[in-house]
Amino acid sequence: MHCGLCLPTCPTYDATKLERNSPRGRIALMRAIADERIEPSTAFAEEMYFCLGCLACMTACPAGVNYAELFEHARAEVEAKNLIQSPRRTLIRGFTLHWLFDDLRRLQWVGKALYWWQASGLQGLLRRSGVMSLFPRRLRELEEMTPLVEPEFTADLVGPVTPARGSRRYRVAMLIGCAQDLTFATVNRDTVEVLAYNGCEVVTPPVQNCCGSLHAHNGEWELAKSLARRNLDQFPPEEFDAIITNAGGCGSHLKHYSHLLAGDARYEARAAVWDRKVKDIHEWLVEIGITAPAPKSAEELVVTYHESCHLCHGQKVSSQPRQLLRLIPGVTLVELPEANWCCGSAGIYNLTQPEMAGQLLERKMTHLRSTRATVVATGNPGCLLQLVTGCRQRGMDLRVVHPITLLAEAYRR
Ligand code: SF4
Repeated sequence: MHCGLCLPTCPTYDATKLERNSPRGRIALMRAIADERIEPSTAFAEEMYFCLGCLACMTACPAGVNYAELFEHARAEVEAKNLIQSPRRTLIRGFTLHWLFDDLRRLQWVGKALYWWQASGLQGLLRRSGVMSLFPRRLRELEEMTPLVEPEFTADLVGPVTPARGSRRYRVAMLIGCAQDLTFATVNRDTVEVLAYNGCEVVTPPVQNCCGSLHAHNGEWELAKSLARRNLDQFPPEEFDAIITNAGGCGSHLKHYSHLLAGDARYEARAAVWDRKVKDIHEWLVEIGITAPAPKSAEELVVTYHESCHLCHGQKVSSQPRQLLRLIPGVTLVELPEANWCCGSAGIYNLTQPEMAGQLLERKMTHLRSTRATVVATGNPGCLLQLVTGCRQRGMDLRVVHPITLLAEAYRR
């Protein structure tokens, strides 16, 4: 179709105005490779990794082009053909995708070590010592972006089974995520509390698997499949009314396991049931209907809402978080300009494409400042981390929080 309606919604095209940095340009490159008119090249590989994978183009597309699948297959092709290889890249991918995120207990060990590095004051000491100035600028930037690890992980805060408050209406499984478990375990606790408060019995196994979105988005298709099978085995979809995630980036991938496992005789049918039962927490709460917090719990808050790309574009969950925020007594919701424009986090994009990610963060922080809100809410750990970094770098006194935390706090009050 090539109508170009996606171009104005594409952050990379908006930044460069180059056709190749646009959805239409990227699809034309994929088409030319599929038709064997051009060979996959390093330039193509770099283009596919310059794309954010934010899926804003999919929301804009009148023809319903499934860019998400094209993008993932294109990256898998880049990796299968070793188009951008270097020993350093192989090492980083090996350590992260093949080792750390393949068994989340390893991630928790590293998380604990990082927590003690921070809590012991050693990190602060290193930063104040000035030693970091001896290191390359990129390493200094990466060190500054190290997320603050929470003292307790989800398993320390939430039991394996949390009973429903009052009569049980539903039995749901709670996915704790990987970055979410280390840096926002209290968000998982709040999510379980809110679910129980609204009649859900919540099953939260302490040790879980990564959802695999990081792997699928970075061309590790076979690893993504193996993680999907493990999740289906750990959470048999037929045993739950819903499988809950509170991380927008994970949810978008989790809802497409039947595509990932297409042709897998043992798992394909169950994956289809799974896809129907995976719900983002905001989507599920609006679907089941919740008890509004009592008016007396009111606390005057001016809140604005940043849309995680994979929640609004990947899962079409956009009005529900706003509906829930408006239910909280005392909350005044101020609309954020370009609320559904990427904040530059995009999985690990802010590590691999720091310049473009930095431009997007600056754009987002300027809009946040214009709302005069005291709180910004967003439903994805990557965005939470990115906005926390943005506030710290600019000295902005803005609370960054998951919408479900505001709801849990209201219930507690
Ligand atoms: S996913 Fe985002 S960055 Fe990539 S082409 Fe689509 S709109 Fe542009």
